[in-house]
Amino acid sequence: MSAFSLQLTDDQRTVRDWVHAFAADVLRPAAAEWDEREETPWPILQEAAKAGLYSLDFFSTQAFDPTGLGIPLAMEELFWGDAGLGLAITGTTLAAAGVVANGTPDQVATWAPQMFGTPDDVKVAAFCSSEPDAGSDVSAMRTRATHDDTTGEWILNGVKTWATNGGIAHIHVVVATVDPALGARGQASFVVPPATPGLTQGQKFKKHGIRASHTAEVVLDNVRIPGDCLLGGKDKLDERLARAREGTRSGRTNAAMATFESSRPAVGAQAVGIARAAYEYALDYAKTREQFGRPIIDNQAVAFTLADMRTRIDAARLLVWRASWMAATGQPFDAAEGSMSKLYAGETAKWVTTNAMQILGGNGFTRDYPVERMHRDSAVYTIFEGTSEIQRLVIARTISGTPIR
Ligand SMILES: Cc1cc2nc3c(=O)[nH]c(=O)nc-3n(C[C@H](O)[C@H](O)[C@H](O)COP(=O)(O)OP(=O)(O)OC[C@H]3O[C@@H](n4cnc5c(N)ncnc54)[C@H](O)[C@@H]3O)c2cc1C
Repeated sequence: MSAFSLQLTDDQRTVRDWVHAFAADVLRPAAAEWDEREETPWPILQEAAKAGLYSLDFFSTQAFDPTGLGIPLAMEELFWGDAGLGLAITGTTLAAAGVVANGTPDQVATWAPQMFGTPDDVKVAAFCSSEPDAGSDVSAMRTRATHDDTTGEWILNGVKTWATNGGIAHIHVVVATVDPALGARGQASFVVPPATPGLTQGQKFKKHGIRASHTAEVVLDNVRIPGDCLLGGKDKLDERLARAREGTRSGRTNAAMATFESSRPAVGAQAVGIARAAYEYALDYAKTREQFGRPIIDNQAVAFTLADMRTRIDAARLLVWRASWMAATGQPFDAAEGSMSKLYAGETAKWVTTNAMQILGGNGFTRDYPVERMHRDSAVYTIFEGTSEIQRLVIARTISGTPIR
């Protein structure tokens, strides 16, 4: 039995340093410009693709790291570089994960590579689950998938919202209800292939942060897709629906929970990256900015804040690493450790960036200093991928075994 160790392997250090260099050399210099432009940074995506970073190969290699740390290490460095550009680069992985979680091996092989395109013709993908009236309450989803028994096609109708890359994606993964009476158990995931008629972009949101990442509504108006675009296949869906109608507890709810527990640490790692960037900036600033004839870090009020920042960031990273390791090694999430990591890391990013802004004083409040952007970017980490309240709900239900509301 190997000894407990938090030491990274040579391979992990190499990948981390390579992503860090890309973040420092490419993302940081471009961050302010794309935040102001509020547009998808196609040239940056292309550069990342040419470097081999924006690719299915890179993300799947990291996802198969047996320790689980491949993805969180890469995420932390990218988002240390810049969160808006980081999300532009990693948004596609959310859709790819949706295909991997629900698709057959053939479906994964068909769709996942197309989501990234090629370095000369870069593409993005979108994962469309949220709706105007179904955010935290996924069971309230109204987008409907109906089967055309004569052609074997599926027809999608509804409105999706908040979709990262929605409308500009080459491939959209859409969650829809097949049987609304069954709530979340009546839902299935579908791939909408490129240029399918009936899928259009609704409003594009003007956001507070992560503005280089495109977020929009997706309108589905009689979108006809081939039968094999149902992820997992019809036989499996029919069996699942039959079990749900009989009231038999299927393993699906547990499987869906396990998928969330496994994916949330990656989002936590993004938050750790933002927090670390703001902390490092504030630490340097506090050592050089002088007031009352001495550096402001000479004041305990400032130094202790920095000490707390570093402590919370390291604690958040350890929670992220633990949950990632649990996912990779198939440990049961008996205390919703994945949700814990996302909750703590998201709250930490918000707390650290707020306090970093305070340490910079007036400068922290201007767009001339990157901490202002980090502060805006961090805010979404207590909202998307399950709000902090929903994470607490999941943790509380898991540790108590009671259906807390
Ligand atoms: C920038 C951005 C990108 C996104 N990208 C995607 C994407 O790619 N794909 C996608 O499908 N979705 C995406 N989302 C949607 C995101 O997941 C939702 O915004 C999130 O799940 C919350 O849903 P809501 O906005 O409808 O808030 P609501 O569910 O309306 O929540 C409002 C408030 O009520 C609280 N609340 C709700 N229910 C409870 C409860 N039971 N107990 C306690 N408090 C509760 C919430 O915590 C929150 O504070 C994105 C969102 C943003 C902002």
